[in-house]
Amino acid sequence: MLRSAAVALLVMSFTVDSRLVAQTAPPRAMSAITQTDLRRDLTLLGGDGMRGREAGTIDELKASVWIAEQLRAIGVEPMGDAGSYFQWFNLRRTRVGASSLVRVGTRDLEMWRDVAVTGTAPADVSGSTVWAGDGRDTTIDVRGKIALAQLVAPPGGGRQTSVNSPEYRYARSAMQSLGFALTRRGAVAVMLIADSTAQIAFSGISNIGSRGGYRLDDPQAAARTPGSSAPVFLVQRALGAELRAAAGQPALIRLFQESFTYPSVNIVGRIVGTDAQLRDEYVLFSSHQDHDGVRYDVAGDSIWNGADDNGTTSVALLAIARAFKQQPARRSALFVYHGAEERGLIGSNHHVRNPVVPLPNIVAVLNGDMLGRNHPDSAALLGSQPPHRNSTELVTMALQANQRTGRFAIDSLWDRPTHPEGWYFRSDHLPYARANVPALFFSSNLHPEYHTPRDAPETIDYAKLTRMTQWFYMTGWMVANTSKRPALDAGFRLERE
Ligand SMILES: [Zn+2]
Repeated sequence: MLRSAAVALLVMSFTVDSRLVAQTAPPRAMSAITQTDLRRDLTLLGGDGMRGREAGTIDELKASVWIAEQLRAIGVEPMGDAGSYFQWFNLRRTRVGASSLVRVGTRDLEMWRDVAVTGTAPADVSGSTVWAGDGRDTTIDVRGKIALAQLVAPPGGGRQTSVNSPEYRYARSAMQSLGFALTRRGAVAVMLIADSTAQIAFSGISNIGSRGGYRLDDPQAAARTPGSSAPVFLVQRALGAELRAAAGQPALIRLFQESFTYPSVNIVGRIVGTDAQLRDEYVLFSSHQDHDGVRYDVAGDSIWNGADDNGTTSVALLAIARAFKQQPARRSALFVYHGAEERGLIGSNHHVRNPVVPLPNIVAVLNGDMLGRNHPDSAALLGSQPPHRNSTELVTMALQANQRTGRFAIDSLWDRPTHPEGWYFRSDHLPYARANVPALFFSSNLHPEYHTPRDAPETIDYAKLTRMTQWFYMTGWMVANTSKRPALDAGFRLERE
């Protein structure tokens, strides 16, 4: 839906400073960005052959090698380790092992088939069980016991965001609120019997839960890992009557934590600028090459392609590199594909701590995430309004670039701190913005195929993707040529830590 009233207000609130714009018309090299290339590249990168590019798997590495090979063919200079395009780092994965023991009375419940647990903390708990109903009767004494309860709808229904299915969000939200209420009353473990809605999500909860959690494998990250807490389980609905009948019997819960490291990788290259005074400064074009890999089956498809997320920006960067190669700007262009974004912005956090060029030399980060869906004439520019805006001058250039290219109506709602998705906090510009690098996030926003196996190349609006790429490129072109680099706004402070 177009929101033209909001757009008019947003655009009018900026005054155009012509001194910021070295060159106003798009350069001839913009013609190097073609719909044909974008479609060809995305058909491959977002196709089933890449198996969803999951971070920490060979599929992410395969896609990364393919991208590096495209950069090499275009003539982008490698900026990674040992003269390569690759900046390697390790992911640390922790998960609860399938050999964990969950016994109620004499019945052994199989982890991830009969029950699923949230979190990855190890546990060693024994005690008697107690039936806690739907959790509302606070006179039931659950202290030191394993509370068995019927899962009920969470407050607010748990349907506010578009991450995963509504049933998944419902179940997770219900587990969180009921689990928290019962552990706060002293339960040492909580086992919640799925209702009909949560049961639909059981296999998804189990599948995602069994994968565990990921973080950057370094001592700083380890120091932030939270300690153990009372485990909260979701129990298959079919086992409900049996479990309820077992209330009062002893239970034994032993959760074993398994931990692994996997390689992941950022792909980095540059096209050196033409101005001897400015070429040590960089405009950073950012994407992430990973997606969610091969997961549970939805309507006969188990490959979560991530064509829009973030195949679109990944092929846009190739097209932008072709244009910069044909006609370099005064400043240098740095292309960074971040690995393991979907596992928690891990590659971008790694690069901010270990930048391939000095961080103060990065004049702006232009990040894209999902550029090819929704209304053909609307798009979001996150980081363009307070409290997300950290450079008014950079925003002004992006809005001028939009006027000269895609002429999108800017959907300003997604950039507001009150927007329920918190979209600004969910992509790779964030660690740079936190490090005080002027940063913007281009997006055509979420859609019903987001994070499902249906986010496939045939759903992409290639004409829109081409215009988004032109806008993205033109913004970078203007930043790369302006005499005065965009200033950081004073007092920039995000609403979330
Ligand atoms: Zn993404």
